[in-house]
Amino acid sequence: MINKPAASDPRTVFDKVDPPKQTQPEPGLGIEMEPLADIGIDTYQGTGRLKGRKALVTGGDSGIGAATAIAYAKEGADVAIAYLPSEQADADRVIKAIEDAGQKAFAYPGDIADKSYARKLIDETVKALGGLDTLVNNASRQIWAEGLENIADEQFERTMQVNLMGTFYVTKAALEHLKPGASIIFTTSIQAYQPSETLLDYAMTKAALNNLSKGLATELTPKGIRVNAVAPGPIWTPLQPSHGQPQEKIEGFGQHAPLGRAGHPVELAGAYVYLASDESSYTSGETLGVTGGSVTP
Ligand code: NAD
Ligand code: MG
Repeated sequence: MINKPAASDPRTVFDKVDPPKQTQPEPGLGIEMEPLADIGIDTYQGTGRLKGRKALVTGGDSGIGAATAIAYAKEGADVAIAYLPSEQADADRVIKAIEDAGQKAFAYPGDIADKSYARKLIDETVKALGGLDTLVNNASRQIWAEGLENIADEQFERTMQVNLMGTFYVTKAALEHLKPGASIIFTTSIQAYQPSETLLDYAMTKAALNNLSKGLATELTPKGIRVNAVAPGPIWTPLQPSHGQPQEKIEGFGQHAPLGRAGHPVELAGAYVYLASDESSYTSGETLGVTGGSVTP
């Protein structure tokens, strides 16, 4: 819930997230989190900044992707979301919020590591929305392990398949539909610059995606397509209690950030709206940190 005077103190504008220990099976559900995270259903206010846009948000069922999908709809965009089939209950909540904003919603669950799903996701999205001009590559997995020797080979491979190969398949399939004016946004992480010893495989995928956003910007900016990234700090989402962190890091989650608290997903929404909208028409190849004050290069 938001506590909002005229000029809000960022340390206290949201209730402090102080979660008890909790675990969920991967990928976790936002509706099962304690406390619930604010994804903007009641708190985000749109002002028509994305009127007429057609967006796809991967991992749009929960957390940062859900906050982005809901904000995009409240800004006037039609929105498709992709997620894993086990996340339908979370997806239903987001679909309702998009429709409540008066926009078209399209949901297409599946595994982005599956090449043929990734292609179908783009084809079906384009069919359902009548085009695509905004792609938010936000889906990722994060499973913690105590150092490199404890990362099982299968875990490592799956993290690469989802975070890197899945994002590549989706982006490649989308390119033929994107025209000048389109925007691609990657979700990277503070982990791209400051890897935790418990997240070595995850962190390297975030550094790679950060790099891809810049390389792809070099290719596409001269064609009128902007490519940027958002690098979040510690945000309270289902990624964390579904084996994303050891239990001792769930208690007190995010309280080491300079603002003294974890972020809520809705606090990311403005960054994704900005990078999709014409307000950022001269910005491409940039990574916008939303870290609670931890500095990034
Ligand atoms: P989240 O769990 O709500 O979102 C991640 C989503 O990824 C899931 O909802 C799921 O739908 C999707 N996903 C995972 N595996 C998939 C697969 N194989 N196929 C299709 N979809 C799949 O958590 P979140 O924290 O909102 O994560 C969103 C993004 O933010 C991720 O890229 C994550 O790396 C990044 N991030 C999160 C934090 C944080 O502190 N929460 C910090 C930095 C970066
Ligand atoms: Mg989810």
